Amino acid sequence: MSKGKRKAPVSIGEQIELQIDNLNHQGEGVGRYNGFTIFVPDTAPEDQVIARVISLQKNYARALLVNILKSSPFRVKPLCQHYGACGGCQLQHLDYQQELRCKQNYVEDALKRIARLEIPVQPIIGMANPWQYRNKAQVPVGVEAGIVQAGFYEKRSHKIVNLAGCPIQHPANDETIKIVRQILQEMGFSIYNEGNHTGFVRQIMTRTSFATGEVLLVLVTNGRNFPQADAFVQRVRAKIKNLTGIVQNINTKRGNTILGLEEVTLWGSPYIIEKIGSLQFKVSSRSFFQVNPLQTEKLYAKVKEYAALTGKETVFDLYCGIGTIALYLADQAAKVVGVEIVDAAVEDAYDNARLNKITNAEFYTGAAEVVVPKLLRQGYQADVVIVDPPRKGCDQALLETITSMQPERIVYVSCNPATLARDLKYLNENGYKALEAQPVDMFPQTSHVECVTWIQKKK
Ligand code: SAH
Repeated sequence: MSKGKRKAPVSIGEQIELQIDNLNHQGEGVGRYNGFTIFVPDTAPEDQVIARVISLQKNYARALLVNILKSSPFRVKPLCQHYGACGGCQLQHLDYQQELRCKQNYVEDALKRIARLEIPVQPIIGMANPWQYRNKAQVPVGVEAGIVQAGFYEKRSHKIVNLAGCPIQHPANDETIKIVRQILQEMGFSIYNEGNHTGFVRQIMTRTSFATGEVLLVLVTNGRNFPQADAFVQRVRAKIKNLTGIVQNINTKRGNTILGLEEVTLWGSPYIIEKIGSLQFKVSSRSFFQVNPLQTEKLYAKVKEYAALTGKETVFDLYCGIGTIALYLADQAAKVVGVEIVDAAVEDAYDNARLNKITNAEFYTGAAEVVVPKLLRQGYQADVVIVDPPRKGCDQALLETITSMQPERIVYVSCNPATLARDLKYLNENGYKALEAQPVDMFPQTSHVECVTWIQKKK
């Protein structure tokens, strides 16, 4: 039978027995049934399972776990009591070393399968303690039978489940959410109701600095007039250690966007100071900042190593966010030039350059695929290009511009191995050669994996 006409060996509703071999990019188990790929969430490599097929595509099917016949030796008891219901983590049921192996395999497989690249993939950089790593938490607030709830939406619903604790959060974020929820309850605050768009308090957001321990509290409200503001500030300040500021963010729009554009500082300063290496960064409620500061430092160190700067180069940092990579490399380059699409992030980047007394950094607002060609026409030339795009990868037009510019090196920071592989394939066919990749685990317990790749101009 020809490949295209091959009929799927399963049908919807059918229960099948399956051995799980690996995980896909969403952290779902992958097994093969008569050679046909089946994805089963909530399973682990080497599980022997019964699964019920719920959907069928040309090349794969999805099935739900019915029963585990033989449990994988890599299964562990999830640390979080909300695991499964919350949806934030996908891999708490896997031993961490096995989680790292799966992420490593996933990166290697994407490079081989999609880019046909046989390059060394260095062993993934994991965390010594893969818990309590997040510096930012944001949770919706609701009310259930008169009790204020602050937590997460139940899967496929908008019912808010009270968070007993989130083991991947910095404990100060957890603590802050619990304290604020209690204060909202005690002070009888009106709580937002999504259904009819009434009520005042919508979300609690907190950011904690791993460097200084400072905590910022942001309360998102449906309206400007904050009743009992002074009393609220006093209570919060009395309860939360290391608090540096309380910010009211006003969001009166319907819908799922968390933060509004208008803010009032109720007390203290509207930002925390975080550090990466010897640099300091101001992080406010709306700034983009990597959520795992410990691993960010390791990621950036790898970027610096692959960039191999001598002090003479002009470096482009494309998709630069608040300019962290550009600023991190600035002392080893003649000049760094960041490009970022979000205006507020570019303002933060300039602020952070000043804060660190860096004078050889420039930042431009706009889409990299539009701004970089303009910079070239103005006579800019990059020796080293760093790209750190969102999940969808680099715009094709940008890759064309970069290859025509002919930098010596490209360092590609990716949060999606599939689009990384697609872009590496293009670069490999257009005068560049990927030499080495380094996965980094920025998001333990979740299915996400980050990867830095060193790419060199072909001689
Ligand atoms: N390098 C930064 C941020 C990476 S996140 C860091 O390490 O913190 C990716 C960034 O790309 C986001 O800040 C996003 O706003 C930005 N972005 C998305 N599309 C873009 C585009 N077409 N051009 C420039 N920046 C873009």
